[in-house]
Amino acid sequence: MRVRALKDILLQLKNAADASGRPEPRLLAVSKTQDATAVAELADAGQRAFGENYVQEAAAKRAALADRGLEWHLIGHLQSNKAREAADLFDWVQTVDRPKLVEALARHRAGDRAPLNVLIQVNIDDEASKHGCQPDDVPALAQAIAAQPRLCLRGLMVIPTPHADPERRRPALARTRALFDALRTGHPTADTLSMGMSDDFAVAIAEGATMVRIGTALFGARKSRESGVGNRES
Ligand SMILES: *Cc1c(COP(=O)(O)O)cnc(C)c1O
Repeated sequence: MRVRALKDILLQLKNAADASGRPEPRLLAVSKTQDATAVAELADAGQRAFGENYVQEAAAKRAALADRGLEWHLIGHLQSNKAREAADLFDWVQTVDRPKLVEALARHRAGDRAPLNVLIQVNIDDEASKHGCQPDDVPALAQAIAAQPRLCLRGLMVIPTPHADPERRRPALARTRALFDALRTGHPTADTLSMGMSDDFAVAIAEGATMVRIGTALFGARKSRESGVGNRES
């Protein structure tokens, strides 16, 4: 079932990329609320990168699947007091949105590991309820990250305001793309634009996403704990 969904999504990503003349994006399989067995099933089918919203939940799955060589991404909001654990558990943190977190992650990333890949989360629609920095804050935050040898600045992540019609997300996605292009001129390591989810990945790819984060379309509806798309406290 899930393996079929994976193949189907990969084909849809390719088609969306071809239709808009963009390179194929990487797929991040969002496995929050799904158990380790579900993750293992996709790993067996070749999926390597998995996204989790909660540090505790990710720790358990990572431990259960330690021998698989998977790549774990934190896509939920991170409190500074969990930065130590996150810096150890994850290969990527996609939700860096303030200088304090940059310092904490850099301090706790062990010297014998590869640098922690980080994305700056931008609150592109300026929603009071959302995490993420303001677009104007990106250059300073990028400088702060680039100054940390234990971190590697890889790009930007956004969660635009949901709309029943994904076309209505397009302007926000296009603004993010412009921000990303500006970022890259000064930061050559920034190669990743993480945007697009189950209901809007085609539009996001057309606007230049290089990584899409897909949960529901791969695993089916989430269990009760997290009904909607969110970026809640880790
Ligand atoms: C849950 C979540 C997703 C996946 O959303 P789906 O609509 O299930 O594909 C992507 N990004 C973030 C930040 C999420 O919290």
